[in-house]
Amino acid sequence: MAKIVLNKENYFHNLKIISEQAGSKDKIAVVLKDNAYGHGLVEIASMAKEFGIKNAVVRTCEEAKKIETFFEQILILADTTFHTYSHSFHIVVNSLEQLEKVPENTNVHLKIDTGMHRNGISIETLEEAIHGTLRKNLNLTGVMTHFRSADILSCEFFWQKENFKRAKNITVNTCEKLFLPIPKFHSANSSALFRFKNYQEDLARVGIAQYGYLESDSIFDNPDLKPVMSLWAQRISSRKITKGQRVGYGGIFTAKEDMDVSTYDVGYGDGFLRLNGKKRYTTPKGYEILGRVSMDNCSINSKDEKVCIFDDVRQLAEIHDTITYEITTTLNPNIEKEII
Ligand SMILES: *Cc1c(COP(=O)(O)O)cnc(C)c1O
Repeated sequence: MAKIVLNKENYFHNLKIISEQAGSKDKIAVVLKDNAYGHGLVEIASMAKEFGIKNAVVRTCEEAKKIETFFEQILILADTTFHTYSHSFHIVVNSLEQLEKVPENTNVHLKIDTGMHRNGISIETLEEAIHGTLRKNLNLTGVMTHFRSADILSCEFFWQKENFKRAKNITVNTCEKLFLPIPKFHSANSSALFRFKNYQEDLARVGIAQYGYLESDSIFDNPDLKPVMSLWAQRISSRKITKGQRVGYGGIFTAKEDMDVSTYDVGYGDGFLRLNGKKRYTTPKGYEILGRVSMDNCSINSKDEKVCIFDDVRQLAEIHDTITYEITTTLNPNIEKEII
């Protein structure tokens, strides 16, 4: 069977670099949404716990439930049903309207729209929202924002940072007036964290960097991270083909000489996106994927029992004109995981 292999040494290497940048392990919230970007929610959560990480971020309560015992706090980004609520869960409130729907005694982080205009409460209504948390008997445990272009060299990052500073001041003043404890503040994702010189905030929500990638402009001094995931496929069958014979759907690949060809059990049904034969993809060992990728298998010029399909998805991201996030997140959650 195809298998996703997770390299613990590389994972810890990345977490160490990230902790140093954040100033402390305690400030890191590992983002594990969407099956830990395809790496396996429980597998990554258990390694993060072993390293000493105390905070995690997921999309739904459903995901949070599965890793509840691993972390002290779990931030839930975008759920609308709270029936599985636990005291270690903190719900992100994305609008004033949502604030009204959160049940009493819930821990909430208010998301502030500092310029991305995707989610969040406007700075103008922040004071009203804090009053709202008090009126609704909610525990205001955090105030946060998200950058839209931390990975790009532009002044937008600084503009949003200034806006968040305003939001912090309003929060501190309002909380003092209302005798509320000052909540935690956090804004950084992976690329933003590595743009701070001296990281002062209470948390950093680190997704892609822990998995070994950072897609920031090359102008930034990017850290030396190591990909955690590799995808392995098992041989199904082999054959010899002669010069001129063609392989797979559409017969896109033509043998230039007599050669060995085997099929392996990874295809686009496993989330290994379909290569259409127009671009060459070679595996880490130098084998070539021949012609089009099928739903459940692909053909490779190898006879090995197992082939490493990738151990770094950057080449695939380029071929598919997308980002590393999409390549790993698309992998089928049912693929077996092994930690080495
Ligand atoms: C996904 C997400 C992150 C993590 O982003 P990376 O670029 O993967 O580090 C952080 N914060 C929020 C709100 C997110 O949705």
